[in-house]
Amino acid sequence: MKNCSYEEAVMTAVRSGQWSDELLEHRESCLVCAEVTLVASLLITDAESLAAEELSLPDPRLLWFRASLDKRRNVSLRATMLISWMQRATLAVTVGILAFFVPNLLSMFRGAGRQILGSLSLPDLPATVAAPALVLLLTFSTLALMALWNEYAERS
Ligand SMILES: [Zn+2]
Repeated sequence: MKNCSYEEAVMTAVRSGQWSDELLEHRESCLVCAEVTLVASLLITDAESLAAEELSLPDPRLLWFRASLDKRRNVSLRATMLISWMQRATLAVTVGILAFFVPNLLSMFRGAGRQILGSLSLPDLPATVAAPALVLLLTFSTLALMALWNEYAERS
C-alpha cells in the first residue's frame, strides 16, 4: 500500500468527525485515503461497541472469599497430611511391636507361669498372668483401633 501525505490528517478527521472541504475533496480522489477512512471508521465503531458492552466480571469480594477458602483448605490439607502420615507410622510401629513381642511375651508368660506355679497357689495364677497381658493387649489394640478409625474418618 502506498502512503499519502494526507493520511495523518484523514485519521484525525475520522476520529473527530470534522472534515475540511480540501480533505473531503482529496479523499474522493485518493485511494489510500479512502481506504484509511474506511478501515479507521470500522475500527472506531468496533472500539465504541466494545466499550459500550458491559463486561460481566464476578464480584471481587467473591473472588477474594474463594481465594481465602482455597488458602485455608491448602493449609489444613498440609497440616492433616503430616498427622495422617504420623498415624500410619504409629500403626506400622504398633504392628511391628506386636509381631515382635507377642510370641516372646507368650513364651515368657508360659515360663513365668511354670515358675510362679511353684511359688503361688494355683487359684492366683490366671489373675497374675492375665492382668499384665490384658493391659498390654488393651493398650496396643486401642492404639491400632485409633489409627484405623482416623484413617477411615479421613477417607469418608
Ligand atoms: Zn491521500
